[in-house]
Parts: sequence; C-alpha cells; structure tokens
Amino acid sequence: MSYDRFNIFARILRGELPSDKVYEDDHVLAFRDVKPQAPVHVLVIPKGSYASHSDFALRATDAEIAAFNRAIDKVAKAVGANGGGYRLISNNGGNAHQEVPHYHVHVLGGRALGPLLAEKK
Ligand code: AMP
Repeated sequence: MSYDRFNIFARILRGELPSDKVYEDDHVLAFRDVKPQAPVHVLVIPKGSYASHSDFALRATDAEIAAFNRAIDKVAKAVGANGGGYRLISNNGGNAHQEVPHYHVHVLGGRALGPLLAEKK
C-alpha cells in the first residue's frame, strides 16, 4: 500500500483537521476515535508516514517502533483503560477492513469487551 499523504490522520498530524488529543511525543500522537466502540476508544498513530502495520514493521526505525509500543501503554494508562485491562486492534489491509491508510492501533477498554470477533465464519 503506497502512502496517501492526504489521508485523514496525515491531515490531523499536519494540524489541518482537529482531534481530541490525549497524548503526544516526538514519534507518536494519540487521540479519541470519533465513533467510539467502547467507553475508552483511542487511536495511537506514529508521526511518520506509514500506511499500515506491515509498512511500519518494514520501514520504521527501531527508535520509532520502540517509542510507538511504549506510547501505547502510556496512553492506555493515561485514559484509564489499564485497570481492568485493554484490547489493542490494528486493521492491516482489505481483509481486516482498514479504513484509514495511516498506521494506527485502536486502544479499547472501560468495560468487559467480550470475544475478539463478533462472529466466526
Ligand atoms: P480502521 O478501520 O482501523 O482504519 O479504523 C479507522 C478509525 O478511524 C475508525 O474507528 C474511525 O471511527 C476513526 N476515525 C475516522 N476519522 C477520524 C477522525 N477525524 N478522528 C478520530 N477518529 C477518526
């Protein structure tokens, strides 16, 4: 997947669109999802231009990868999702129904989330 620099999250990173920011550091931005699927639903994104998890894993520096993973736990704690546990989801590509082509991890929590997938086929 090539990187589309006009995707929604790229525009949030450039300050062209607003976001409900909960965390930021040199490598990472986190903000609340506009259509929350749980009481806590935050998106964590790298500031670099990576289209998907696969793209990030292949091209990001070790520093970016470390910062991103550490930020996820900081974010979960900052928004109160760590006490009862939280779930991370990253949709990668078409089968996973990735809608926004900038790598992101969903942090979900604030209630018991049930099974991972709603239905099995
Ligand atoms: P995915 O299917 O993993 O690509 O999920 C994309 C997520 O981005 C969805 O949960 C959307 O609700 C969320 N989203 C789309 N636009 C925005 C926005 N401007 N601010 C916050 N979240 C957004």
